[in-house]
Amino acid sequence: MLVKQTVLQMALAHVPLARTRLNAAGVDARTLRGVEDLKSRVPLTMRRDVVDPVRNPDGPWAFVLQGTAEGVKRFSDRSVLFRVARARLLGGEEVQQLQIESASRSVHLHLAGGLGGPIPISYTRDDLDLLARAGARLAQLVGIDREDRLLNLVPFGPTIDYWGIFYMALGVGHTAVHTRHEDGYSDGGAATFAMMQPTAVAVPADEAAQFPETATEAGIDLSGLRTLLAVGRSLTKAERERVGEGLLAAGAAEARIAAAYGVAEGRVLWGECAVPAGKTETFGFHTYPDMEILEVVSPETGEALDEETPGEIVVTPLGFRGGGVPRWRSGDLALGGITTRTCPNCARDVPRVGPTVRRNAWQRRVTLNGSATRYDMRDTAALLAPRMNDWQVELASNGGQTDMFIYIAPKADDPGQVIGIYEEHVRWQVPPTQIVLASPEDVAAKRDATGGLFSRFAER
Ligand SMILES: [Zn+2]
Repeated sequence: MLVKQTVLQMALAHVPLARTRLNAAGVDARTLRGVEDLKSRVPLTMRRDVVDPVRNPDGPWAFVLQGTAEGVKRFSDRSVLFRVARARLLGGEEVQQLQIESASRSVHLHLAGGLGGPIPISYTRDDLDLLARAGARLAQLVGIDREDRLLNLVPFGPTIDYWGIFYMALGVGHTAVHTRHEDGYSDGGAATFAMMQPTAVAVPADEAAQFPETATEAGIDLSGLRTLLAVGRSLTKAERERVGEGLLAAGAAEARIAAAYGVAEGRVLWGECAVPAGKTETFGFHTYPDMEILEVVSPETGEALDEETPGEIVVTPLGFRGGGVPRWRSGDLALGGITTRTCPNCARDVPRVGPTVRRNAWQRRVTLNGSATRYDMRDTAALLAPRMNDWQVELASNGGQTDMFIYIAPKADDPGQVIGIYEEHVRWQVPPTQIVLASPEDVAAKRDATGGLFSRFAER
């Protein structure tokens, strides 16, 4: 029911891109019955579908709810309608209008940067309540409670990393300072530390390993720290070791280490349950099954993968109305995939992703035809998968240059499609060095020789 409601809201009340894509696929959101229907009938959407002006002439703003009161009335669930009706009863038309706007007006945006430019991730006022609720669960998971004092050292910016922590603090209702802009926390940070004596810090995952040393060198007393929350990805075993040793050396004997991560174009931050400093186990990111539907698909074909199989994270947010599309392909790799087994550390039953997660896993810096640019191998995959019996893209570093070879075994015998593939890549500013027609057997042999998790993406 929530699936249908969510897709309806995205499609009809009114996120232009969601509507366009469902129409193009011939899907009437009113006929969706549940999760299986969603997975089998609703098309996947990825970054290229939003930022490429040919695929989306309306531009990235079509990702944002263009809400109307009429839309709220027609496509909201009963709890929203009830709230709106009650507001009118108790407060009159003006209060009712505020309630409608809470559900229909975009009030807060994240800008998910990446290839082709930023994508706006929009929240209504109601969505921000959900973000805070997710934050409260994240905090509980990582062992932060109302008594804690949090120093947020994630740099300010329009990102889920920063605002996810901000709304975590609101959701829990603990004391928090969000101090950081640009870089550096050793000066102001030391004074703030001494003043507020935080019991928890949130730091970017990339800086977590050196944090205890850096802080200690800056004269900061970490002995009262109970939780170090790394934000943005999971920590490696080596990083956990270093953080743990650093915290214990700084006298933080009670400290626990946790991590938080969310899909950049997603809605919420997920957390890993905390482990004591000195331990290096990790149990994956715990998700919120009532707030989103998760899938893991092959980055090569977009096909669903079995549980506990490495692949690309796909998210359908539930109940968030501010924008977005169903079945968003994140471009993030979950090594280990997704599991529904009970967490051996905290005994929660929610789906877990990971344990290791890598953002933009298939994006590479390449230098083609003398110009350096970024390239997402998934774009080639999405172009080729429907039309080929088999294929492989190969990136070969050649001095300061990159050679890109695309091997294709097409389904149809159409010489024009090679030109089409070439021109599409030129438009993405990644002209292939060569497109090679081959037999399915030859491509299969090349893939066998490549090996690895995703043998259609070869690198050497
Ligand atoms: Zn757990």
